[in-house]
Amino acid sequence: MQYTEIMVRYGELSTKGKNRKDFIGRLNGNVAKALREYENTISIHPKRDRMHILLNGAPYEPIAKILSKIFGIQTFSPTIRIGKGIEEVKQTALELMQATYKEGMTYKVNTRRSDHDYEYDTNQMNLLIGDYLTEEIPNIKAQMKQPDLILRIEVRADAVYLSNQLIKGAGGLPVGSAGLGVMMLSGGIDSPVASYLAMKRGVEIEMVHFFSPPYTTKKALQKAQELTGKLANFSGKINFIAVPFAEIQEEIKRSVPEGYLMTIQRRFMLKLTDIIRERRGALAIFNGEAVGQVASQTLESMVAINEVTTTPIIRPVATMDKNEIIRIAEDIDTFNLSVMPFEDCCTIFAPPRPKTRPNLEKALQYEQKLDVDGMIERALAGIEVTPIYPEQKFINDEVSALDGLL
Ligand code: ATP
Ligand code: MG
Repeated sequence: MQYTEIMVRYGELSTKGKNRKDFIGRLNGNVAKALREYENTISIHPKRDRMHILLNGAPYEPIAKILSKIFGIQTFSPTIRIGKGIEEVKQTALELMQATYKEGMTYKVNTRRSDHDYEYDTNQMNLLIGDYLTEEIPNIKAQMKQPDLILRIEVRADAVYLSNQLIKGAGGLPVGSAGLGVMMLSGGIDSPVASYLAMKRGVEIEMVHFFSPPYTTKKALQKAQELTGKLANFSGKINFIAVPFAEIQEEIKRSVPEGYLMTIQRRFMLKLTDIIRERRGALAIFNGEAVGQVASQTLESMVAINEVTTTPIIRPVATMDKNEIIRIAEDIDTFNLSVMPFEDCCTIFAPPRPKTRPNLEKALQYEQKLDVDGMIERALAGIEVTPIYPEQKFINDEVSALDGLL
């Protein structure tokens, strides 16, 4: 079927007034950016209650695939715009139904018209087109309640619009409409899922990733970068901020009792992230912590770690079970990357028995013995920021296969 346009319905329709304008403006920008490769063909028309994307001959399927990842879209429908002659409407309705109908499906026709001078009213149209389809398609059955297919016909002043598919969009709010946050991204399963959920609520994110050469391999860094490429599918581009963390870890390992290594390391990570957040003009910190999952994620640990800042720390997967998180990771295609066996900085410096109930006073005592400012300053000096684009690849397959064998 050569569709002529895609009709896009907005999510969170409760948004009103200026918010609604911002929502639509932002969505328009995000759609334009995501469909940049078609910019010479298509045109995008954001209206108050819907957006119309005119295809002008551009292919529907690949564009639909891109649209399905854009937050702020509730549903969309590939649509055909035709002239108002009834024969043309009948013929196109038949083709459209034949392209989507499968044996045994039920259907109904749903006509709306804003052109009240049209020669048929909505009831007449429903009957006329319905009768024609029932005659032409063997075994198709009309059914008013919950039919499998709804053929929507809209008679407007300029033309008639037909569609019979309602495709579920990604929901949520347009990325950027809620402001900027920094995301603490490891190479694990949870933080990519937390990144996706943050973007789904309209937050534009920048990734902060700690890496520890020579203790961690280049692969661990590349894995985090490639995960960012997967997540960029939902926003078009994500800045990746790599922070060297080896010196801090060495220093902590030298001076802090084993039970507090993890707590103090995490406190440094959070301090650094908060400074980076401020420099980048972001408002909140996001991470992939889930209550009770590991030693650093007990409530006691959170108290001892969180104390370094009053910045809001949002934990999108905080209350999810691991298998719920994994299900989302599979949906957004980060799972297979996350389970690749490249050790990150936390795994390598993880003490065998970290305290699950660290004491804040003790953590502060141990930390006071360190040259905190100097360590932080040197780490900040080594930061590198790079933009990462959808599906950008970083891991060299041949070498990583070999790594797996060794
Ligand atoms: P994940 O699957 O996201 O790695 P996890 O269950 O392995 O989480 P931890 O390793 O304890 O849990 O990490 C908790 C959170 O701390 C992560 O979700 C992430 O937000 C942050 N974090 C951990 N390691 C790093 C890192 N190397 N760089 C940036 N953030 C990190
Ligand atoms: Mg981890």
